[in-house]
Amino acid sequence: MLLRLTTTHTPATDLGYLLHKHPDKLQTFALNFGLAHVFYPEASETRCTALLLLDLDPIGLAREQKSAWEGFALGQYVNDRPYVASSFMSVVLSRVLGSALKGKCDEKPLLADTPIPLEAELAVVASRGGPGLLESLFAPLGYQLEITRYPLDEHFPNWGQSPYYTLKLQQQIRLSDLLSHLYVLLPVLDNDKHYFIGAEEVQKLLKHGEGWLALHPAKELITARYLRHNKPLTSLALRLLQEDLPEVPETQEAKAESLEKALEKPLSLNQLRLEKVAEVVRLSGLRSVGDLGCGEGRLLQLFWQQGQLERIVGLDVSARSLANAVRRLHTERFSERQAQRLELLHGSLVYRDARLKDLEAVVAVEVIEHLEPFRLEAFAQVLFEDLQPQLVVLTTPNAEYNVLFQNLKPGQFRHGDHRFEWSRAEFESWCLNIARKRHYHLRFEPIGPLDPVLGAPTQMAVFEK
Ligand code: SAH
Repeated sequence: MLLRLTTTHTPATDLGYLLHKHPDKLQTFALNFGLAHVFYPEASETRCTALLLLDLDPIGLAREQKSAWEGFALGQYVNDRPYVASSFMSVVLSRVLGSALKGKCDEKPLLADTPIPLEAELAVVASRGGPGLLESLFAPLGYQLEITRYPLDEHFPNWGQSPYYTLKLQQQIRLSDLLSHLYVLLPVLDNDKHYFIGAEEVQKLLKHGEGWLALHPAKELITARYLRHNKPLTSLALRLLQEDLPEVPETQEAKAESLEKALEKPLSLNQLRLEKVAEVVRLSGLRSVGDLGCGEGRLLQLFWQQGQLERIVGLDVSARSLANAVRRLHTERFSERQAQRLELLHGSLVYRDARLKDLEAVVAVEVIEHLEPFRLEAFAQVLFEDLQPQLVVLTTPNAEYNVLFQNLKPGQFRHGDHRFEWSRAEFESWCLNIARKRHYHLRFEPIGPLDPVLGAPTQMAVFEK
């Protein structure tokens, strides 16, 4: 069982710090089902690779797990367990790379928290669900996948394909996130676990799934398989996952919002912004639009009035906002045709989501500043590489303008949930990089009263193919 981890972050040998394993050493760990070795076949400034080799002891296993191979006497010795990355690998990840899995790195704490270019290759995975399952588990998490499938026996091609694959995953990502994804998803792929499943497995799933599982489009399948189809545990986990959704508590959310509203109210900035964005979409003549981070659906209401729009999709991570959108739009009164025209989706814009496919225009109004900066690249990838709409409109506060808000203390953000607020130069350079790399035309427009020095309160970027 082999896992290869490679980075091209410079200096690449920092991987040694992140894994808590020195690149010059071969280290071996004894586990009750075999030996795990960690070593580095290459370690240079520009590229560093760590290998985790699990040498599973099939004889030892057979002694412990007699019943598993009933009906096929040799099965306990002749099986795929030593080769296929499975729940054994998850145990190794937590025992041998436990600190890396938790994202702990005393020498380089910042690095542990930074997405770096990483490649993980699993020599053999068993996908009980074909290549499609590999895609649907890993692609929504932002990975580029390379999949090689193997025939059952190359001498007998008519026996067909085996469930075995080599899987290569690539992404700019924090190492701890990548390891958490593998920890949860390897047993899910394999659809098996070598140990008894109890309530503590739910805890493990929630812990390692924190921040991504609740929003994963395949969360039901992942949860059911991870818990070995134990129904009560699966429904418990799904209920707890629902609570894991990153919802700002009501009072805090309301407080944060009221500050932003109070500041911007005299300008009626929110309305101005929505009308401006709706106008850009109307003038494009495009026929479908997605509003990512649609909040309570005010912009969706404006889109609803645009006859040329045949498909309108609103997506938000906050179930509470979506519930308000449902009320605002009176979706319960929709005819079947109207319901087909407007869809409200619960999800996150930093994950690939097949439900958003084929949208011609996508807008995200006052949303990017709610994302952790390290998630921005994932957002850009989803939007500009996966969805690739013809038109993208983004708006965000112009931080330079903040000094003109008298109720705002210096350095304070307009909204309690904002993770950053950018100057015009910062927003423009981020957008320019995206447009250059993904071949979009780009223009900027101010929204709101224009100060000759500080600009307008809101900045808008329009990307066109
Ligand atoms: N576009 C609306 C709401 C802006 S507030 C308007 O202009 O009025 C930001 C919205 O982004 C909130 O509704 C919040 O729930 C949503 N949001 C934040 N992070 C998100 C994520 N990762 N995925 C989807 N929506 C997100």
